[in-house]
Amino acid sequence: MDAPTAACACLFEAIVLSHDDAMFSITPQGLVSSWNPAAARLFGVPQAQALGQPLQRLLPQYCGTLAGDAPHGGGLSAQSFVRDPDGRLLPVLVTRSSIRDPALGALGWLLTVHPLQRTLVAGSGSATRAHQMMNVYESLVECSDDAIITKTLNGVVTSWNPGAQRVFGYSAAEMIGESITKLIPEERLHEEEMILQRISMGQRVEHFETVRLHKDGGRVDVSVTISPLRDAGGRVVGASKIARDIGERIHAAQAIWRQAHHDALTGLPNRKAFGDHLQRAIDAAEQAAAQLAVLYVDLDHFKAVNDSLGHAAGDELLVAVAQRMRSALRASDLLARLGGDEFTVLLPGLEQPADALTVAAKLHRALQPPFEHAEHPIHASASIGIAHYPRDGRDGMLLLRHADLAMYEAKRNGRNRSVGYEAAMDQRARGRLLLAGDLRRALHQGELFLLYQPVVRNGDRAPVKFEALVRWRHPRLGIVGPDRFIPLAEESGLILDLGDWVFRRAAAQARRWREQCAEPPQVSFNVSPLQLSSDVDSTAQWPAHLQAIGLPPGCMVVEVTETVILDDSPRIAARLSELRRQGLQVAVDDFGTGQSNLASLSRIDVDYLKIDQSLIRKLPADERKLAICEAVVAMAHRLGIQVIAEGIETDEEQRKVQDIDCDFAQGYLYAQPLSEADATRWLLDATARWRAEPPAR
Ligand code: C2E
Ligand code: MG
Ligand code: MG
Repeated sequence: MDAPTAACACLFEAIVLSHDDAMFSITPQGLVSSWNPAAARLFGVPQAQALGQPLQRLLPQYCGTLAGDAPHGGGLSAQSFVRDPDGRLLPVLVTRSSIRDPALGALGWLLTVHPLQRTLVAGSGSATRAHQMMNVYESLVECSDDAIITKTLNGVVTSWNPGAQRVFGYSAAEMIGESITKLIPEERLHEEEMILQRISMGQRVEHFETVRLHKDGGRVDVSVTISPLRDAGGRVVGASKIARDIGERIHAAQAIWRQAHHDALTGLPNRKAFGDHLQRAIDAAEQAAAQLAVLYVDLDHFKAVNDSLGHAAGDELLVAVAQRMRSALRASDLLARLGGDEFTVLLPGLEQPADALTVAAKLHRALQPPFEHAEHPIHASASIGIAHYPRDGRDGMLLLRHADLAMYEAKRNGRNRSVGYEAAMDQRARGRLLLAGDLRRALHQGELFLLYQPVVRNGDRAPVKFEALVRWRHPRLGIVGPDRFIPLAEESGLILDLGDWVFRRAAAQARRWREQCAEPPQVSFNVSPLQLSSDVDSTAQWPAHLQAIGLPPGCMVVEVTETVILDDSPRIAARLSELRRQGLQVAVDDFGTGQSNLASLSRIDVDYLKIDQSLIRKLPADERKLAICEAVVAMAHRLGIQVIAEGIETDEEQRKVQDIDCDFAQGYLYAQPLSEADATRWLLDATARWRAEPPAR
């Protein structure tokens, strides 16, 4: 070594030894070849321990920061953090230069680690404040749930906090010195280019929501904010990045969205989603001057399925119905479940109103084949109401309401059919609403009363029974018939109280007749299916009540409609059987109006069958109907059931029913429904007449 060179080396050594910045060099193999006292202070590793050691082993956590990539032969300057011997994080500026010998080539690297705190202290003029600030800053980085990362402009990670490990799974040792692209899914690599480009231009990227890779291979939803890091001269030398794991927030938001817009059982859009879609479809139709239709679909007798087979079977049916309907519709049609057994369909881009009927017919057909169920197949059908835009309403809510009203009409017209909305339905609905309000009051204010229609024995016309028929003396509308208000009572649940009142009133009358007549008549009363299927069993009290008033239960007959036995509900069957076991009798009303099925009579024991007046009306002329009635009577008799012909108005009808061997007859020919007083008079007269001149029996 010549003299100037030696002097230079001494000077260089003095500088290095006395310098406040940690300075050390490493060989191309990564072994520490020099280590100044400041490095020993900063890292807490004495020179003797450091020399000859692989930097990797000495300072694993900083290895990437200190020895990471740099353009070969070029320098590197980056902000980073190191931990001092007390465990505190210090922000530092790391500068790295390559040591090259013109003859020998690359000899290694010289690294200078300049604590930035000093710069801060110098700048602020208050050492304590600056120190406190640093501590606050450190603990923020340490404790943050967010990933706080710094990287070079080439995307090499230079610091990595515990939050980053929580979010991405990698430890600091695994990531520092690595390329940040390790975290980026391939299809999103372009994002990193965009980010680095903006950072190099000194811009920030704020709250950028994206997806990154976790160490375990999974994906992490993150929101990242990236800011440029500058050196003392203001040059952008890297980037700091705060990444927040928003997976939970996204999942929660998705779950809330799904919950808010989907029906959990069928997976179909729910009422809210349907409403939103409908409004958008209406807006689009308005712009395009197009039409659309809304179908309101309600399953028939769904409650019976729930009651008889249980809620699990009910749910299963709803899911299967939803699937069948969905596959009967086009992809562009929207099927939603509003709740319970109510579905809606939106048909956008309708060519002509009649097309909606075609779609409704498809839905009816789709439901026709029985649904598989563990014990036996379930038959389902639906009532469908249809409303058109713009004809029946320009607003989504109104269209839905009108489709609902039309569905109600479909139910009233016998179910399992489709009905289009008409303006008159609105008025009828308003009338029903008013009437339903009045009805609640009517029961308590004594506006209801019973009429009694006699039933005579065929052949000798003996006055053997009365049927109690309810009426409503409405203060404004006058006498209102049961056909108008019983359905309202059923809808509002008032039928339970009303039905109970009818039973007690009719029983009291039967009891009076028992005192007044030697051969007291039976009294029958009509019972709504809901009284027999409701959760509250008001019928259970009836036998005890009869006993309390001293009336033999055989004096009372429960009339249930034919649909009740067709419903196949074990609860209804059980309640009817119990009433019979207690001594009351049971009559099947309106026989011949539904899907008459004598086989169903074998499931529920009944005492009487009442042939509906619609069948009686056709008797005289229609030989086929006559043959059917004759067969029904014969079969009923074989089952030990007596037959009552309803609605006899003419002598001819009376003769025919006698010919086919009906046991009893009821109708205007004998008497209209009568008030209590008139019925009593009629009964006493008829009994006296019958006694005086009994016809040939
Ligand atoms: P229903 O039980 O089949 O009653 C027979 C209906 O036919 C009665 O009508 C009666 O007035 C009428 N009728 C009787 N003979 C003749 C006739 O010769 N010709 C014609 N055209 N009609 C005749 P109403 O009283 O209007 O009752 C209608 C329906 O209302 C009843 O049919 C029954 O299903 C229901 N209903 C009546 N009272 C009650 C009640 O207290 N509770 C329940 N749940 N329903 C009732
Ligand atoms: Mg009846
Ligand atoms: Mg009837």
